[in-house]
Amino acid sequence: MIALYTLLVLVTVAVVIFGAPPIRRVLLSNRILAVFRKVMPPMSQTEADAINAGTVWWDGELFSGKPDWERLLGYPKPTLTPEEQSFLDNECEELCRLCNDWDTYAINDLPPEAWQYIKDKRFFGMIIPKEYGGLGFSAYMHSQVITKLSTRCSALAVTVMVPNSLGPAELLLHYGTEEQKRYYLPRLAAGEEIPCFALTSPHAGSDAAAIPDRGVVCKGMWNGEEVLGMRVTWDKRYITLGPIATLLGLAFRLYDPDGLLGAEKDLGITCALVPTDTPGVHIGRRHFPLNAVFMNGPNWGEDVFMPLDWIIGGPKMAGQGWRMLMECLAAGRSISLPSSNTGMAKLAVRGTGAYARVRQQFNLPIGKFEGVEEPLARMGGNLYMMDAARRMTAGALDLGEKPSVISGIVKYHVTERARDVLNDAMDIQGGKGICLGPNNFTGRAYQQIPVSITVEGANILTRSLIIFGQGAIRCHPYVLKELTAARQNDARAFDQALWRHISFTLCNGARAFFMGLTGSHFVRVPANVAPENKRYYQQLTRFSAAFAFVADISMAVMGGELKRREKLSARLGDILSLLYLCSATLKRYEDEGRNAVDKPLLDWAIWDAMFKAQSAFEGVMSNYPNRVAAHILRWFVFPLGRPYVVASDRLGHKVAELLIEPSSTRDRLTADMYIPREDGEIIGTLERALHAAIAAEAIEAKVRRAVKAGRIEARSPEETAQAAVDAGIISAEEQTQLARAAQLRNEVIRVDDFPPDLSLTDHARSDAARAVA
Ligand SMILES: Cc1cc2nc3c(=O)[nH]c(=O)nc-3n(C[C@H](O)[C@H](O)[C@H](O)COP(=O)(O)OP(=O)(O)OC[C@H]3O[C@@H](n4cnc5c(N)ncnc54)[C@H](O)[C@@H]3O)c2cc1C
Repeated sequence: MIALYTLLVLVTVAVVIFGAPPIRRVLLSNRILAVFRKVMPPMSQTEADAINAGTVWWDGELFSGKPDWERLLGYPKPTLTPEEQSFLDNECEELCRLCNDWDTYAINDLPPEAWQYIKDKRFFGMIIPKEYGGLGFSAYMHSQVITKLSTRCSALAVTVMVPNSLGPAELLLHYGTEEQKRYYLPRLAAGEEIPCFALTSPHAGSDAAAIPDRGVVCKGMWNGEEVLGMRVTWDKRYITLGPIATLLGLAFRLYDPDGLLGAEKDLGITCALVPTDTPGVHIGRRHFPLNAVFMNGPNWGEDVFMPLDWIIGGPKMAGQGWRMLMECLAAGRSISLPSSNTGMAKLAVRGTGAYARVRQQFNLPIGKFEGVEEPLARMGGNLYMMDAARRMTAGALDLGEKPSVISGIVKYHVTERARDVLNDAMDIQGGKGICLGPNNFTGRAYQQIPVSITVEGANILTRSLIIFGQGAIRCHPYVLKELTAARQNDARAFDQALWRHISFTLCNGARAFFMGLTGSHFVRVPANVAPENKRYYQQLTRFSAAFAFVADISMAVMGGELKRREKLSARLGDILSLLYLCSATLKRYEDEGRNAVDKPLLDWAIWDAMFKAQSAFEGVMSNYPNRVAAHILRWFVFPLGRPYVVASDRLGHKVAELLIEPSSTRDRLTADMYIPREDGEIIGTLERALHAAIAAEAIEAKVRRAVKAGRIEARSPEETAQAAVDAGIISAEEQTQLARAAQLRNEVIRVDDFPPDLSLTDHARSDAARAVA
């Protein structure tokens, strides 16, 4: 009776405290707020600009612990207009025909006719609206173009990609004065101006906000008149298109020591457009980034006077440069590298799959050996997921989103998976992948992967600092509200956010635990999902709840310290990213009409991702600074142990099979890639060789059986085939098929060679490349 009475009193006290905000505030929230304000990490303006930039989209659902799958499936499938489709099928196809990886390497540039075509067809104006002379393409179309160009020539893709990514055009569109837009945008769209954007300096790479480049507001002579301007000194490197640019987008820190613009002395990072023929602008020589031939180099200037009107958006935008860059970063980062890397992966998958069927060792196509199947399966599963994420993210941009956290996720994960795909492709091809020349279809892409890893936010930094660091604040339903309330010392708002946050955390913990105990079998999923994927939706809901719970507990246990614990932050970011990649993969399956024949690709990708997510959880818990909290987390998240295992060998076998023979699945997986039809082009030859090899396999088997049975004698392949015809084992027509397969196989396995000193003039290199068996 006393116990019951005590319990009743406790419950009443709890209800009064937690249910009555004024009492709760006085007794608890205000005290917590005081502590919170003391331990809260300081945030610079540049950090705040980065965190506040962009929008929250599907990442917010994943952070909620309860993703609304109906919402995911309701997002429209990205599509092209007839005009866009025609551009992809005609202009893009033609541009691919004009360039190839090897010839660009041989001349260290794109061929002049490709440059002209790019300008004539306004490839530099994909993001520029038609009213300014651009093509006004959707984000999805922009992504399709970059993907397609990357299946042909990486230098071509980068050259087209950069003017359409974060740079002069994008910044002008958002912040330019009408006069700047009317002057520059049509010129940029027509390729009359070649733009570049110079942010990186020798002493500020990843920490770009720390650029030492500076401008000082002052008066000076301009066109014979004294005007208010700035004297700018800068030293930049690694600037893509820099060596040939006519218009330099320049980021520097602007100071106003004499107060000519107002009271502020340090105005902050500022972006200006500087014609490169301005006296004092030095465009240096070229860098040679891993043999990539797109233009890239340093530039510098000392005390170069320029009018304030050159600031993008005019003088009122002085000091707003960092905010502008952060706000615009998501669009380019969501498209450029995810698309170019998906393109390279398509090329590697289609080509290597065919090669693995055509190339024989030990009397078998190498793609049929279990050891080779394993990397083939990785290549297929990775590409299916990469392309799904690329498309879904481009679709988000077309819905008006600027998904900053997601842009970091796709930049990091698509480029890392492309690196895996290319590594696997190289291993499978052996020496064929290593010897460069016109007959090598992956070596150049392989060489250039580190460029993708490094630019637009280097990958280690993106994973360790940005994805979870920004996600935890932006995508979380309450953290930003709490931080804002604490900064403003708003007790009421803090109290509201805090208690909702606490109940959110407890609820996710309980849900994660229950779903862990029941194998998430009771999770409700919308009736309209593909029934064969229902379990995936259920398991992802479980992981989403577990992730939200672990993220909250980590923030509570480590607070601001979590920012320095980059390894833990990286693993939490991995879980969020994998949830996003799985969502995109499930959406792709639905958007493509639930092709059952593609299901092994989806299954492999999701199993692999779930296993990786589980390992990331484990990595967080094993390294948790507080061991008690670690045990509690493990108990909540994996109450019955770790349920996920690696994708099975049987599944991997099915995926590998899909890559080594022609099928609608293989076509969808490598959709919209450029496949040259002309003779002598390795990818086209590989396609023909693949068909011929498959047609010849049954005939070869008949011949082998006859040899084994002693009916004919094994000699050279041609002689054995003739003996098989003479003995009535195969027909003359079958003999012709064997000969055709052998001839195409010979062409495919060829590698190039060069004079011993490799000292050819650039133009002669490709002509002198002699293909030998
Ligand atoms: C081919 C090429 C083209 C480029 N094009 C342009 C361009 O057009 N315009 C432009 O302005 N810039 C351009 N860049 C510059 C590019 O953006 C930078 O290279 C990039 O920002 C990284 O800077 P960094 O190379 O100085 O490396 P660093 O900043 O020195 O970083 C080195 C390593 O340390 C890691 N790291 C740094 N800080 C942290 C941290 N806090 N936590 C974890 N890891 C960290 C990074 O991830 C990286 O792995 C280009 C670079 C290349 C190579």
